Amino acid sequence: METIDKIDKCRSTMQKLREQGNKIGFVPTMGFLHEGHLSLIRMAKRDCDKVAISIFVNPMQFGPDEDFKKYPRDIKRDTSLAEKEGVDYIFNPSVKEMYGQDHKTTVEVKELSSVMCGKYRPGHFAGVATVVLKLFNIINAHKAYFGEKDYQQLVIIKKMVADLNLDIEIESGPIVREEDGLALSSRNRYLSREERENAIVLYRCLNIARDMIAGGENDLEIVKKRVMEELKGNEFVRKVDYFDFRDPLTLQEKKRIKKGDGEILAAVAAWIGSTRLIDNIMIKV
Ligand code: AMP
Repeated sequence: METIDKIDKCRSTMQKLREQGNKIGFVPTMGFLHEGHLSLIRMAKRDCDKVAISIFVNPMQFGPDEDFKKYPRDIKRDTSLAEKEGVDYIFNPSVKEMYGQDHKTTVEVKELSSVMCGKYRPGHFAGVATVVLKLFNIINAHKAYFGEKDYQQLVIIKKMVADLNLDIEIESGPIVREEDGLALSSRNRYLSREERENAIVLYRCLNIARDMIAGGENDLEIVKKRVMEELKGNEFVRKVDYFDFRDPLTLQEKKRIKKGDGEILAAVAAWIGSTRLIDNIMIKV
């Protein structure tokens, strides 16, 4: 395995791999790897000849009051985990290498970026789309892998790829969870023991919604009211940004289940103490 921190070196290395006929799989990450990331790496290993991951905590996707500085980083541990999974290349650039002194360009996927998390994290998805496009241009992979944990991000990246005619295939992997159901996240490490025990309320609420809908409830406002009671009743939930039902493709809000809907996304973002967590499930209707 090779770790590369310069754009030119990364580009020429990937170019050579392509010329040799290799199919390249790419997994973008912000590091502090966990089983969620590793599951995507395994998918890439299964499909491709060579696997590159990026480890880059992207300042452009953090708001001024967010956790960019304290975001967990451990490149040594990440390197050893990646090596064990058979990753071929880690691209680990500095912020200066990625953005230089005078970066002016951003990519914005309109509408999809201003709902759900976008409403509470203005500029976040422009930061994500911009860095992902830059990484796609640097790595030039055949396939890229994203987790359904960040469902809105996945929809936005797919739309960017379609709208900008990018020559890359996007694959997605299911959410990897702890035994009690909490979705794995690098941010879980911020949680105190009590917060960690209570963070499971997010997944519990998604399941309450699924059960109510399976029981025949079509009015999603009623489902939401019940779920919000559960969330607000938990003393560790400091704030709920949203608990929404959305169309899985357009992310438009759904207030009622209609015949032929097929699947509905239930998604939540809430603060457990000072940690913002997100989770979602797809509900068959
Ligand atoms: P991050 O390092 O948080 O930017 O995540 C990098 C990639 O891993 C993204 O595509 C995430 O959606 C994905 N990911 C993060 N957590 C999980 C999880 N629990 N299960 C599956 N994929 C995940």
